[in-house]
Amino acid sequence: MYKAKAYAAASAVSPLAPLSIERREPTATDVRIEILFCGVCHSDLHLVRDEWHEAMPAVYPLVPGHEIIGRVSAVGPAVKRYKRGDLVGVGCQVDSDGTCPECRAGHEQLCANVVLTYNAPDKHTGGVTYGGYSESIVVEERFVVRVPESLDPAGAAPLLCAGITTYAPLRRQKVGRGTKVGIVGLGGLGHMGVKLAHAMGAHVHVLTTSPAKREDARRLGADAVIVTRNAEEMRQHAGSFDFILDTVSAAHDINAYLNLLRNDGNLTLVGAPEQPFLIPAFSLLTGQRTLSGSINGGLPETQEMLDFCGEHNITADVEVIPIQRVNEAYERLLKADVKYRFVIDMASLKG
Ligand code: NAP
Ligand code: ZN
Repeated sequence: MYKAKAYAAASAVSPLAPLSIERREPTATDVRIEILFCGVCHSDLHLVRDEWHEAMPAVYPLVPGHEIIGRVSAVGPAVKRYKRGDLVGVGCQVDSDGTCPECRAGHEQLCANVVLTYNAPDKHTGGVTYGGYSESIVVEERFVVRVPESLDPAGAAPLLCAGITTYAPLRRQKVGRGTKVGIVGLGGLGHMGVKLAHAMGAHVHVLTTSPAKREDARRLGADAVIVTRNAEEMRQHAGSFDFILDTVSAAHDINAYLNLLRNDGNLTLVGAPEQPFLIPAFSLLTGQRTLSGSINGGLPETQEMLDFCGEHNITADVEVIPIQRVNEAYERLLKADVKYRFVIDMASLKG
């Protein structure tokens, strides 16, 4: 074991504060990574404040962070794919059984024994896993992905969650040229959804509660913007979307978006508000619409997404912050005031 500097929440109502944590020494198949940048996902905030208590109770101290970019500093003797100095990433998972049908198909996120990057039982320490708001991390080689050197590492960090979480459902729904896509919520996930759907050739509409984001939405690749609080704008698009990706983090009326789908259209939910949805049967029966959920993505698809971003030069629009400002960043997330992902510069932890 060795000591690593980190930021942790001590309870659901405590601000994040410095904490010294223990990390394991790399085992034969482990990679040790010195973390350069870690994105701030709204899921970090939900978990720190124990908003998902029923599905995923928080265990304190909780060290969040699952948008990790860093350089390899040590590898175990059996590690084959990485060497010291490589630019790598770690996303939402750090282990799985590796043997079940889901793992064999590269859908590790669906494995019954998946281990999340933080707040999950850690078989190595007997405690819980600690995430990327930390100077280093030790991860099983299988869960480490290669980051194209051509990408800015701060802008690439959010690809590890916001990127894959939006890329996977866009691919699953075969979004491409001619697809009319709606992205609901222009935050961290939403802005990646816009960039990726645009790069796939889709006709992209942003559905936002923030009229001030109109120009940014277009700059990010949207063909049109719908302000959802404007009933007339919503009515004009009724029954017209092939696919809608809902990234909203707070309680909202999902029926307003279901009604925008064409016959057989699909709405995929990736946002995870604390409160349940109320959905009248006819929002789905009419037009035979489908409502799906999606949870980040597996390793092969994460690597595919990173390579796609390398090829198209896609990174997140980031506001880089020192870790000492992370509590302020959380407050701004709650006000939908992020352009469009906070990313922690981990050098600030060393000072
Ligand atoms: P974020 O950066 O805070 O963005 C959320 C956006 O939702 C806001 O920018 C805002 O966009 C919109 N919004 C906020 N409150 C709203 C309200 N009351 N009504 C309508 N729209 C509202 O959050 P994020 O990091 O992108 O995460 C979004 C959600 O996805 C979170 O719940 C997070 O936990 C979840 N998530 C899920 C997965 C998965 O695997 N499924 C992975 C990562 C995150 P506008 O200003 O444009 O309206
Ligand atoms: Zn996330």
